[in-house]
Amino acid sequence: MSESGAMDHWDVLVVGGGPVGACAAALLQRSLGNARHPLRIAVLEPSRPPPGAADLPLDARVSALSRASEHILAAAGAWEFIARERLSPYERMSVWPEGLPARSPGALTFDAACVGEPNLGYIAENRTVQWAALEAFESAGGTVIPAVFSRSRIESDYVEVETGAGSFKCALIVGADGARSRVRESAGLVAHAASYRQTAIVANVHTTLPHESTAWQRFLRTGTLAFLPLADGSSSIVWSADERIAAMLLAMPRERFEEELLRASDGVLGTVELCTDRVALPLRRMSAERFTAGRCALIGDAAHVVHPLAGQGVNLGLLDAAALQECLCDAHRVGEDPGAPGPLRRYERWRKSEIAPMALSIEAFNRFLAHGAGPLSRLAQRGLSWVNRSEEVKRFFITRALGLAGELPAAARVPVDLS
Ligand SMILES: Cc1cc2nc3c(=O)[nH]c(=O)nc-3n(C[C@H](O)[C@H](O)[C@H](O)COP(=O)(O)OP(=O)(O)OC[C@H]3O[C@@H](n4cnc5c(N)ncnc54)[C@H](O)[C@@H]3O)c2cc1C
Repeated sequence: MSESGAMDHWDVLVVGGGPVGACAAALLQRSLGNARHPLRIAVLEPSRPPPGAADLPLDARVSALSRASEHILAAAGAWEFIARERLSPYERMSVWPEGLPARSPGALTFDAACVGEPNLGYIAENRTVQWAALEAFESAGGTVIPAVFSRSRIESDYVEVETGAGSFKCALIVGADGARSRVRESAGLVAHAASYRQTAIVANVHTTLPHESTAWQRFLRTGTLAFLPLADGSSSIVWSADERIAAMLLAMPRERFEEELLRASDGVLGTVELCTDRVALPLRRMSAERFTAGRCALIGDAAHVVHPLAGQGVNLGLLDAAALQECLCDAHRVGEDPGAPGPLRRYERWRKSEIAPMALSIEAFNRFLAHGAGPLSRLAQRGLSWVNRSEEVKRFFITRALGLAGELPAAARVPVDLS
């Protein structure tokens, strides 16, 4: 509410300034917030991370960002706010199933050099990406409101939004408030969710062997274990294990856990020492039946949640952000209101058709490779060594890992300057 008692009016109100919502807001602010007929854009975010000071230890919640994500964050003006010493480029990805040694010809290795790229992407802390995108948004003139969304009422020509900081009106509400989105619920958008009956254990570790700028992933019969290379030489582990096993691993004293980690990783990086606490994240899949309703669009985890084994959650969310920005920019150019049905329908069709096949392949990987028993799993494991033998098939997968396949928004294809 403004001082005059009138309700503040925003053209676009993004609820949730996580990595995806903050990036969407920064893209919109740089393109439409500073247009000839500028739109007023705000982000509602109650828990803003502190700036990642260079001397702070690296946080255990990290994501592998694809080249497409790098381009989108650069277009949003956020990439320049991420300190280089907190970013770790990874040049290779090595994937191998239980039953084979990590460095055997049966292990699948993707090398950026294969496609003439310097790396496959970067490992970055989630909170650093979020902080950088919020900084970029504010530097471009956007407003961050430190409040919690309570509910919304969607009318034909506006949305009324209730928050902990009072009520607002907006032309379009963007739900970027994560997997348990209240925006989605308030708009009556149905979501299908199910538990994987797995828990991801996340921590940072020191290893006696260097990580070689490689993302290592082993498919176990009871889940997957990944070591992601960090900028300070340590690695971030993501151990997605069946619930019962994860509970045992979490209850173990650190030394026992380190021994289990050494066994599960087949000693690929030597002995392992925890340098942070273990964080447990129960894993669920979720997909919203519709990504839009009248004057409402969902992006990121509010729209879809996939298994972390492929490291695609943030990457898919940043593509949503860039696709939504492109649809709204095209609509703005011809004088359309940001909450009009046309651009929202286009956004929904576009992103649903890209996400559905990706979600299906991630499910197949989890089912047949990460729980490797039975004839289909053996077939899938043989498929890995077949992929390894063909440079052409490998290039196909590397292009996907770089995020440069499919129908991409302009901001994802090449670095663009929106300001
Ligand atoms: C173990 C693990 C490993 C992963 N690894 C990778 C990886 O390597 N690569 C990758 O791309 N993805 C990865 N992911 C997925 C990734 O973490 C998520 O997809 C990503 O965090 C989603 O971002 P988001 O901004 O959509 O949602 P979130 O990060 O959940 O952010 C939501 C934001 O909304 C705010 N919020 C929530 N409720 C409200 C409310 N009522 N009002 C106002 N604000 C609100 C929150 O404070 C938060 O800031 C991984 C996930 C897991 C579990």
